[in-house]
Amino acid sequence: MTPFNKPYLTGKETKYIEEAVATGKISGNGVFTQKCQQFFEEQYGFKKALLTTSCTDALEMAAILAGIEKDDEVIIPSYTFVSTALAFVRQGAKIVFADSYSDNPNIDANKIEELITTKTKAIVVVHYAGVSCDMEKILEIAKKYNLIVIEDAAQAIDSFYTFSNGEKKALGSIGDLAAFSFHETKNIISGEGGMLAINNEKFIDRAEIIWEKGTNRSSFFRGEVNKYGWVDTGSSFLPSEIISAFLWAQLENLEDIQNKRKSIWDRYYEGLKDNPNFSLPKIPDFATNNAHMFYLVFKNLEDRMRMIKKLKENDILAVFHYLSLHKSDFYNEKHDGRILKNSDHFEDCLLRLPFYYELQEEEQRKIIEFLNTF
Ligand SMILES: *Cc1c(COP(=O)(O)O)cnc(C)c1O
Repeated sequence: MTPFNKPYLTGKETKYIEEAVATGKISGNGVFTQKCQQFFEEQYGFKKALLTTSCTDALEMAAILAGIEKDDEVIIPSYTFVSTALAFVRQGAKIVFADSYSDNPNIDANKIEELITTKTKAIVVVHYAGVSCDMEKILEIAKKYNLIVIEDAAQAIDSFYTFSNGEKKALGSIGDLAAFSFHETKNIISGEGGMLAINNEKFIDRAEIIWEKGTNRSSFFRGEVNKYGWVDTGSSFLPSEIISAFLWAQLENLEDIQNKRKSIWDRYYEGLKDNPNFSLPKIPDFATNNAHMFYLVFKNLEDRMRMIKKLKENDILAVFHYLSLHKSDFYNEKHDGRILKNSDHFEDCLLRLPFYYELQEEEQRKIIEFLNTF
């Protein structure tokens, strides 16, 4: 059986967990947490990085920091994971779902402006498959209407966007706030895990407080205040040192992991690019590819479902992806009724192929050959 995903271990994870245990301090914000955060800040230019227990949690922090309140409107793509919307729903916001491009699952930046009202507070973008949204256009709109930009960068570690003036920035360093995931299905993993990247400096102090249950504990330990107390809302968003130690082992191998994944991606692309039955991911000129996933887009639902079944009969697990959120049980009654045809198209026609570090060349060739014979 070729699984869809297989978490990759570098071999150092348990060693670092043992080290963390040996220090006697395994709660959050210790040595490994700080090493990981510093790595991310230096490598990707985030003004501040805070590890969290998940990307979902990082998005919750973002929703609190953005000051989202009841009846505020937040623009979110419909073709995404529930967590993108969930954090804002919990703050009482009205979600205004946006459509994807016809040839790319990302939010269509040309259709955002028409969704803005006097109540709009934020735009949440999702870099699907680690491929950047059109950030220059999105930042322009946000500036014009004074909106906060939040990047759901769950899939977007080690991927970049190039502005028209040539400036290249890491995804997650562009919006006011950004959320990453280290769930075992992502490129860099810690089982469950995530990170909030803060790029707008005005949010940094409050982010640290919300991160530690609404207390000013971080500034106490830095000696900035002489006792710590309860000063704001918040939750326990920080992971234990055991999780951070695991993550550190992955970060030490980031380059190797990324190179390996890119070679797997390229092999799929080369092997499948001439097949007329489906289209392949398109990487816009302004974006890089971090090889988070490889997907095909079939012409219709029937073709895709038939292929899933045939692959499964041959012990290859390929899976479809999101169900449009505007049609979900939870949200369809609250949605304003607009039809989002591109989101629905990807719901019906997109298929993700097995993708993981240890996918052997031989196995991959079999998958490619199989797809090309049908
Ligand atoms: C994986 C994912 C999430 C959720 O990440 P967790 O760390 O599991 O909370 C959110 N948004 C997107 C786009 C994702 O792919």
